[in-house]
Amino acid sequence: MTVLAPGPSAAPRPLSVVAPATGAPLAEVPTASAADVTVALERARRAQPAWQELGPRGRGQALRRLARAIRDDGQLIDTLVAETGKPRHEAVGMEIFYTLELTRYYAGRAGRRALRDELRRPFLFAIKRARVLRLPHGVVGVIGPWNWPLLNNYADCVAPLMAGNAVVLKPSELTPLTSLRVAELWKNLGLPEGVFQVLPGRGEIGQALCDGCDMIFFTGSAKTGRQVGARCGERMIPVVLELGGKSPMIVLADADLPRAARAAVWSGFANSGQVCIRTERVFVETRVAERFTALCAAEVKALRQGAGGDRPGDQDIDVGAITFAPQIDNAEKQIGDALAHGARVAAGGGGRLPGDGRFFSPTLLADVTPDMLVAREETFGPVLPILRVRDAEEALRLVNESPTGLSGSIWTADVARGRALARRMVAGSVCLNDVLMNYFVVEAPLGGVKASGLGVRHGPEALRQFCRLETIVEDQPFTGRLSPFIQKQLMFPYRSRTLRVLRWVMRRVY
Ligand code: NAD
Repeated sequence: MTVLAPGPSAAPRPLSVVAPATGAPLAEVPTASAADVTVALERARRAQPAWQELGPRGRGQALRRLARAIRDDGQLIDTLVAETGKPRHEAVGMEIFYTLELTRYYAGRAGRRALRDELRRPFLFAIKRARVLRLPHGVVGVIGPWNWPLLNNYADCVAPLMAGNAVVLKPSELTPLTSLRVAELWKNLGLPEGVFQVLPGRGEIGQALCDGCDMIFFTGSAKTGRQVGARCGERMIPVVLELGGKSPMIVLADADLPRAARAAVWSGFANSGQVCIRTERVFVETRVAERFTALCAAEVKALRQGAGGDRPGDQDIDVGAITFAPQIDNAEKQIGDALAHGARVAAGGGGRLPGDGRFFSPTLLADVTPDMLVAREETFGPVLPILRVRDAEEALRLVNESPTGLSGSIWTADVARGRALARRMVAGSVCLNDVLMNYFVVEAPLGGVKASGLGVRHGPEALRQFCRLETIVEDQPFTGRLSPFIQKQLMFPYRSRTLRVLRWVMRRVY
């Protein structure tokens, strides 16, 4: 790996990384320049063929070694907690655990099977066979957000690397330190230089990757995603866009309400609500709404908030800091709008907490209506609105009116009915009587529809996105002189007898 110093041509401002839980400066990171991007891409192109030659087994071994180093590196966990302000429990139990599970899956048999050549036998030209190859695109640019500095940054490099690509990762300018630490581990293990590089920087570096890579895997906001998609479209390179959403939870009257309330609060406030597939809004049937809201309020009141840092006992914290300051402004704006239009605070509501750290009181809103900002626009922070609906049909109609379609959950004792409703929900994935679990079932595709994105992560489908398809058509070994004979009939000079045969075939076969 290479951490690039600023190039001589331009001197971009370094990135000032601050600990959200304390407000203390953590590091000044030199920003890569446009020239550095060029150097990194050249290095990646030189390194990629040997990485491809290693084959899925060799690449898998390398990625498993790195995953074990990530698991055992105390410095990486400290860095992750410090630069996000999240509880240690979430850093380990979500980010690191997920990275290990994803590597286990892709670096093992499932990955090898998905990348294998495939032989297809044509029906019409039975003397031929087609070999379908899945080859790497070359250099994949991975552009990541700040809410999961490991899970949505390095872990998103695992599938493109496994597919045989070299990867240049641009982490978010707010949280580059975790990715830089992974790059150090890569280097310390002696893994091939140039195959995995990290370029810290702002949006310009992301743009430069879109200009120079062979494929882009982007996770972030819809606004930036549109720009990235447009640039990749101009260059005709493949792109995967994993964007935001307004994921709903639908709670039907026959649901296990205490279980649903616990899940609503966990999926609403984990990572301080800075989770793409979090429960952004709850639709609950009117006849159980009061009871459900009271259960949720009790859960919220029991949450323990604080710094997830180094002090003993920190692991007993449920809700950490806000990683990105503007999320607080957004939460305040949405709460203000909701209260002005008739909603009420059912729990929390303390707003920004005093002190140097960026903490915001987890807030449960009741009596929310679909026209309020908090019910329509992504919150991405610790605010959870509850809306009453007449029945499942009304909930589904409101959900499907949304311009986004990332994820959702349905809560009911009747699993068959839940499945039927899930089928009608326009979303990339739906959990029945559970939440967030769709992110950890790495065997199945996970992505967004509508304005939530293009393409998927997870499953063989995601791994194959990082490959270009190439088909080799060749004679079956048994064809002998038959193949040249048929070729002769089909090629110049055209013969009326061939046309008669073709007509006969068309009538008989079709
Ligand atoms: P963002 O769009 O502001 O930034 C994402 C990345 O893009 C950063 O690294 C940034 O530097 C880079 N970037 C900025 N301008 C660019 C440009 N013109 N070209 C290329 N790259 C550019 O998003 P964010 O605030 O970091 O992340 C929060 C958003 O991400 C939320 O909307 C959330 O829902 C979404 N998200 C989605 C998923 C998912 O899997 N669907 C996962 C995590 C986060």
